[in-house]
Formats: sequence, C-alpha cells, structure tokens
Amino acid sequence: MANLREIYQLGSDVIRSVAAKVEDVHDVEIQTLIDDMIFTCKASKGVGIAAPQVNCAQAIVIIASEPSERYPNAPTMEPTALINPKILSHSHKIIKDWEGCLSLPGIRAQVPRYSEVEVLYTDRDGEEHTVIYSDFVARVFQHEFDHLMGKVFIDRVESTYDVVMEKEYQRIIGKTKGEKV
Ligand code: ZN
Repeated sequence: MANLREIYQLGSDVIRSVAAKVEDVHDVEIQTLIDDMIFTCKASKGVGIAAPQVNCAQAIVIIASEPSERYPNAPTMEPTALINPKILSHSHKIIKDWEGCLSLPGIRAQVPRYSEVEVLYTDRDGEEHTVIYSDFVARVFQHEFDHLMGKVFIDRVESTYDVVMEKEYQRIIGKTKGEKV
C-alpha cells in the first residue's frame, strides 16, 4: 500500500536542492518512493510531483495529468514515473500560461514554457524511453523538471505582475473561460 507523504513547501532546503541521479531504479526504497509519490500527487489533486517535494532529493518526477478542480482542462494520462529525465530538444515556440504548485499553495502565475520538449528518461522497470510532450503535458514536465534543479515556477515569471493569489485566479479564469491566456 502506498502512503501519503508530507509535501514540503518553499522555504525548506530540499525545495532548493539539486536532486541526485538515481543509480538503482530497482531499489525497494525507490520503488516505494514512486508509489508514494503517485498516491500523494493524486490525493493532493496535483498533475505532477517531483521527489524533492516529498523530501527526497532524487531525480524522479511523476506526471499524472487528468482533469481536476485545479486543472479542469488537463488531458488524461496514466501516472508516469520519469527517472533521471533529460531534455534532448525543445521547440522555439514558447507559451505563457497558468501554473500552480503543491509546494506553493495559494499562488498562481503565468509562466513561459516551451510548447514542446523531447525527453529522455528511465522508467521504473529500468527501460529507457524518448518521448515528445506538447502543450499542457510539456508544461507539467518542465515544471517538475525544474524541481530537480531546485527551481520553482515563480523563478520563471517574466514579471511579478504575472503572480496572483488562488482566489483571484479563480475569478480571472472564470472571466477568460475558453480563451488561451
Ligand atoms: Zn511544483
């Protein structure tokens, strides 16, 4: 059974630390960590989580995109663990859109991200994969990948005027429903 882990917040050292490469994906602690991360992400209504957010500075991210209260337009995909991910290439095109983070509750910001990224990663069985993520999933990946380098989404904003509080964000997206912001 997977366990709910505490999500560490901005201000804790682990959120600003650089994650170490996972040497043995078959290690029972790594496999348990992955199960717990998926469980914790879902329980928190997140669409992704990175290991440093649960106080493990290891290069593992989960992408678990599905529509939720926090992200009503997210595509549905099976929760995927990406171990030791690398960005091989990316689009020139950059899109600015809203993000939030389980480690910075109550804050939303418009963040510029590549619209497409080509990613190399190892899965939880030790197999290597190359995938191309686009749009929302590309955004989620880049957000989680940043966590492995001790970066959070507000580090990426163009202006502090692009940062808003959750309550006002709900008002803003209500106003611009259906439009790309
Ligand atoms: Zn985050």
